[in-house]
Amino acid sequence: MALPREYLGQSCSIARALEVVGERWSLLIVRDAFFGLRRFSDFSAHLQIPRAVLTERLEFLVGEGVLGRTPGPGRRFEYELTDKGLELWPVVRTLSQWGDAHYAPDGRRRVFVHAGCGGEPDPLGGCPVCGETVVPAAMVMVPGPGMATGPDADPISVALSLPRPLLEPVT
Ligand SMILES: [Zn+2]
Repeated sequence: MALPREYLGQSCSIARALEVVGERWSLLIVRDAFFGLRRFSDFSAHLQIPRAVLTERLEFLVGEGVLGRTPGPGRRFEYELTDKGLELWPVVRTLSQWGDAHYAPDGRRRVFVHAGCGGEPDPLGGCPVCGETVVPAAMVMVPGPGMATGPDADPISVALSLPRPLLEPVT
């Protein structure tokens, strides 16, 4: 049985936050936005999420102020993380680290390094090499040993399997 989206009577901040990003696809959309996806068609191709569900989730995240929506080329909307959305990076990074530790037998698929020095910042952005606090825009995503892209991979997956700065538009 699906859980109701709203945890009625819960005043805990975690419960409140999960109402916004705890739904199955929401955090993956946020993750992809950090990876540089902006267009509906790109989220759709990469996540293989039903269009109606993607439409609903994007609307919801825009309504919550996690994503901003702006007109892009060709009269298509683009979705970009707001400052509030960017604050979710430690959540995304920590979940990826936890997943790497427990569910990545072939090794990490992605490694996030400080563009300035090549160090690997911790989830809060602390760089062990230069000591700076590194924001996502100053990080580069590079493929790890667990990265494998099959010949039938969609173009977005291929683009995301190559080294690229976080938040830089994929297309
Ligand atoms: Zn550094």
